[in-house]
Amino acid sequence: PHQLEIRNLHATVGDTEILKGINLTVPRGELHAVMGPNGNGKSTLAKVIVGDPEYTVTQGEVLVDGVNILEMEPDERARLGLFLAFQYPVEIPGVTIANFLRLAMQARKAEGEEVSFTEFYGKLQGALKTLEWDESIVERYLNAGFSGGEKKRNEILQMLMLDPTYIIMDETDSGLDVDALKIVAKGVNSMRGKDLGGLIITHYQRLLDYIVPDKVHIIVDGRVVQSGGAELAKKLDTQGYDWVKELATA
Ligand code: ADP
Ligand code: MG
Ligand code: MG
Repeated sequence: PHQLEIRNLHATVGDTEILKGINLTVPRGELHAVMGPNGNGKSTLAKVIVGDPEYTVTQGEVLVDGVNILEMEPDERARLGLFLAFQYPVEIPGVTIANFLRLAMQARKAEGEEVSFTEFYGKLQGALKTLEWDESIVERYLNAGFSGGEKKRNEILQMLMLDPTYIIMDETDSGLDVDALKIVAKGVNSMRGKDLGGLIITHYQRLLDYIVPDKVHIIVDGRVVQSGGAELAKKLDTQGYDWVKELATA
């Protein structure tokens, strides 16, 4: 099956259980939003999917196209086509964006397969155009002195270059003004289609005005308490989160 499937996922930090049985299936070709009040496990879910060693999975599975990834190293997960937008937020002194992108693309290739300059440069041109970014940006050092908006745009640039099959975006909208938000959304929307699936994690509905999700799931206290269509995000926007918190205790 071409899908990202999260099955009865439980995860802990130290002695505390944060994820308490998450069930979620995203077919390739769909983008689902994950929403929920702060502190209820959204980012933990994203980090567990990427393989952050700080979290311990105690039960359940994460299947990418039927393959359980939980025993894999983060770079193996990336080679399967998983992309986490917050995966490389670090500043790397002395590494330009261009170098970094080339290395990241190369890392996804099979052994012995080279990323040609033509492939790299052609793709880069297209991605920069989509993001309305001047080519000179790629000669800058990765994230060094970047504004919040530039960092996010850079995440989307990485995403466009790496051609992921599943993306996980966690709070990509935080701290962005509307113009930056629109550019981020344009980048994501340019990739949408039958070959891309993923989760857009966001506390606020705002981003979902520009990236309209195929489905919306609400996480409260480490579980999905409700799923629905894009209208569910609107409901949260107008009615807040109190009513979903009640669902969790019901
Ligand atoms: P959300 O993204 O929904 O705001 P998080 O997944 O970031 O929520 O956090 C869920 C809960 O887990 C919070 O109570 C948070 O304090 C706790 N938590 C998350 N990561 C850690 C960590 N590394 N160490 C301790 N507690 C953590
Ligand atoms: Mg939070
Ligand atoms: Mg979070």
